[in-house]
Order: sequence, then C-alpha cells, then structure tokens
Amino acid sequence: MINFSERLDRVNDRIQTAIEKFHRDPSQIKLLAVSKTKPPEAILAAYEAGQRLFGENYLQEALEKMEKLPFTDIEWHFIGRVQSNKTKAIAEHFAWVHGIDKVKHARRLSEQRPNSLSPLNICIQVNLSGEESKGGFKPEDTEAAAREIATLPGIALRGLMTLPAPIDDFEEQRTPFRRLRELMESLQKGGLKLDTLSMGMSHDLEAAIAEGSTIVRIGTALFGAR
Ligand SMILES: *Cc1c(COP(=O)(O)O)cnc(C)c1O
Repeated sequence: MINFSERLDRVNDRIQTAIEKFHRDPSQIKLLAVSKTKPPEAILAAYEAGQRLFGENYLQEALEKMEKLPFTDIEWHFIGRVQSNKTKAIAEHFAWVHGIDKVKHARRLSEQRPNSLSPLNICIQVNLSGEESKGGFKPEDTEAAAREIATLPGIALRGLMTLPAPIDDFEEQRTPFRRLRELMESLQKGGLKLDTLSMGMSHDLEAAIAEGSTIVRIGTALFGAR
C-alpha cells in the first residue's frame, strides 16, 4: 500500500529545499497532485493528508472520480489534451485547464463556462522542443494567441505551461523552463496580466522551481508508478 503522507512529505521536502536554494517565495508555489489512472481511494488518502489540488488527464475518468469525491474544497485541474467535443464538460467541472493549444478551444470553453462559476483559469501550452508530435503553440505564436484568449469573458488567462521531453541533466532541464519564464516576462511587459508558470514534474521539479515555476504537476513521486 502506498503511504501517501510519507510521499507527500518527501515531495514537500524537495520543494522546500529548492525554494531555499533558489530564493523563491514559498507562497508562490503550489503543488498539483496528478492523480490520473489512480483510483478514488488514492485521491481520498491524499485529501486526508491535506492535499486539495488534483490534476486529471482523462475526462471520463475524472468525472467518475469527482462523483465519488464530492468535496467542495477540492480544486480540479484538467491537464490532458483538450478536444472540441470535451470542452463543455471541462468548462462545467474544472477550475483550471493547463495546456490550451488552440484558440478555438479557449473560445468554446469561454462560451460553455456556466455563469454561476468564476471564469475558468487557463494556461497556454508552449512547445519549446520543436517536436511536431507535441502539443503547444510555437513560442513566436504565443503572444497573438494570449492576446486573443485574454479577451474571452469566461476565461481567466493565468499564464503558460510546458511539458518538456524528460532529460536527466539539471542544467539542461532548466533550459526550456527558463525560456518559458522569459516568454511570460515578455508577455507581461506587453501588458498581459499573467501570474502562473505551470512547469515541473516528478523528475524535474527542482529545475522548474529554479526557473520560476508557480505550479508543479507531480504524479509519480506522490502516487507511485502508473
Ligand atoms: C502525467 C503528467 C504529469 C505528472 O507526471 P509525473 O512524471 O508522474 O510527475 C504532469 N503533467 C502532465 C501534463 C501530465 O500528463
């Protein structure tokens, strides 16, 4: 059996160590527990250990878990690939969407966001590796997309997200995260109000924190291998 509490302590220690080493403000870094493929019981154990932010990749699976875990203080983040036929349910059930890579998806989410809910928080995914198979805007296309998305009434554009290819070398891990931060800084200088860098996973959270991450998305290190 996984002991979630112990794993959570270990991840929080890693985050804390990186915060001290890289002189970050602890109040600026949130831990998103990525619970995809894990059963509701695993999320419940995490909830009981105090975790409140959960990330899910697969819509149907996420909706089933939400039904079993109807805690109003859980904040659900959609971190999977958005598809047009899923936007309505995403707009109705999630607080955040990381990884928007088409303006039309943001437009649909905005139209479909229920008025009774606050605007849907969104991060734009940026593809910094140039791999065609990976989702995300090219860096040079990001500003135009951000400007358009920022005008949508049902959306609160919060920042940028990236999902780099896994690498072992710490300095190399930092490179795409640094580029994402610099890109956000240039958008901020251009007048866009952004406060979120969604970057860093189990194997590279330290490098992401070094470069300014505000949300680390952690699966394996919290819930074990998938
Ligand atoms: C699965 C996933 C994660 C978590 O990855 P781990 O390596 O298990 O920490 C983070 N972000 C996204 C977008 C994912 O799909």
